[in-house]
Amino acid sequence: MLQSNFLSKTLRKNPKDSVAISHQFLVRGGYIQQLTSGIWSLLPLGFRVYQKIENIIREEMTAVGGEELRMPALQPKEIWTASGRWNSIDPPLFKFKDRHKKELALGSTHEEVITKIAGSFIDSYKDLPKYVFQIQNKFRNELRPTAGLLRTREFVMKDMYSFHATNQDLDAYYLKVAQSYKKLYSRCGLEAMMVNASSGTIGGDSSNEFIVAADSGEDNIFLCPDCGWATNSEVGGSLSVCPQCQAKLIAKKGIEVGHIFKLGDTYSQKMKALFMDERGNKKPIIAGCYGIGLERLMATVIEVNHDSKGIIWPQEIAPFQVHLLGLDLEDEKVLSRAQEIYQKLKSINIEVLFDDRKETAGVKFKDADLIGIPWRLVVSKKTGDKIEVKERREGKEELFTENQLLDKVKAIF
Ligand SMILES: [Zn+2]
Repeated sequence: MLQSNFLSKTLRKNPKDSVAISHQFLVRGGYIQQLTSGIWSLLPLGFRVYQKIENIIREEMTAVGGEELRMPALQPKEIWTASGRWNSIDPPLFKFKDRHKKELALGSTHEEVITKIAGSFIDSYKDLPKYVFQIQNKFRNELRPTAGLLRTREFVMKDMYSFHATNQDLDAYYLKVAQSYKKLYSRCGLEAMMVNASSGTIGGDSSNEFIVAADSGEDNIFLCPDCGWATNSEVGGSLSVCPQCQAKLIAKKGIEVGHIFKLGDTYSQKMKALFMDERGNKKPIIAGCYGIGLERLMATVIEVNHDSKGIIWPQEIAPFQVHLLGLDLEDEKVLSRAQEIYQKLKSINIEVLFDDRKETAGVKFKDADLIGIPWRLVVSKKTGDKIEVKERREGKEELFTENQLLDKVKAIF
């Protein structure tokens, strides 16, 4: 991709009233733009990162047996009345009336819709278990949308739902999903802790959050340094010792990047989603649900992967793998050399962003640091036949011949 073709531009000034570093770098890097409070566009550069995260999540959910589906964002009042959440869910729903004066809401979650669907197809214990997920826009009527992509009113969520005949079967699958969550966070360059959490207005028997330790986080957790047990302070209260091993707990700040729930029969009971067990008795279906907000995950990666100059993307979700800066491009020889390297890298399927703009070296270096692509290459008068290679994270520059570069690139990607 040629940087001269970009729709967005980098900005030198932080957005007004911005506190979160991810908010500042995403806006300044040309990744996102605010439409109105808590509502954001993902610009082409931001959408590339988003799509990589989406694909990782899709792969991991498919690996634990999830079937992908798509449910509507527009939902009728009736199903929310049936679950008892029309007025109680927090944050509240966006509600409105259609032209026939029928009340609707924009879905902030899909327990009601999926319970209705599952109840219509699942008749017997022989139909269980079942696992489905979607990756879809959600809407929350937040009091104070803040911090760029960390707290928004419209966002994309991966929500998975599982249906079981017994609590034991739910417990086993719940652990499996928890393991797959750890794997997908790690692929995104994050280390997430699983902590006991409050189930809020989703309800159910118990729930766990996945928290990434970050000083900028809004969640307070207590963590056991010995056995790894952890809890959100919302449920842990003022605990000081670990309930599992009695070690002294450490307080940490973090960002919630996922929340999973053992719903049990909370929704199937209210919405009469029943199945016939082995003895021929009608019982409510046992369910679990498993959420991840995608834009928040993207912002969290930046909260823990940056320096004072900009973002440092982990390899697997970087918008491009390599950032090629062409300097002195008014020189025909340098220009054709840079174009040759660009074509060669593309021919071996490396995702290259080629900075071919008519800008100074200073501007190009600054923008490269801000945008944060893991590998930076420079072709200029000074580098001659060679290519300067620098890893964004390390900051050490090396001169490579073309063959050395191609070998290196093949080894990394
Ligand atoms: Zn412990």
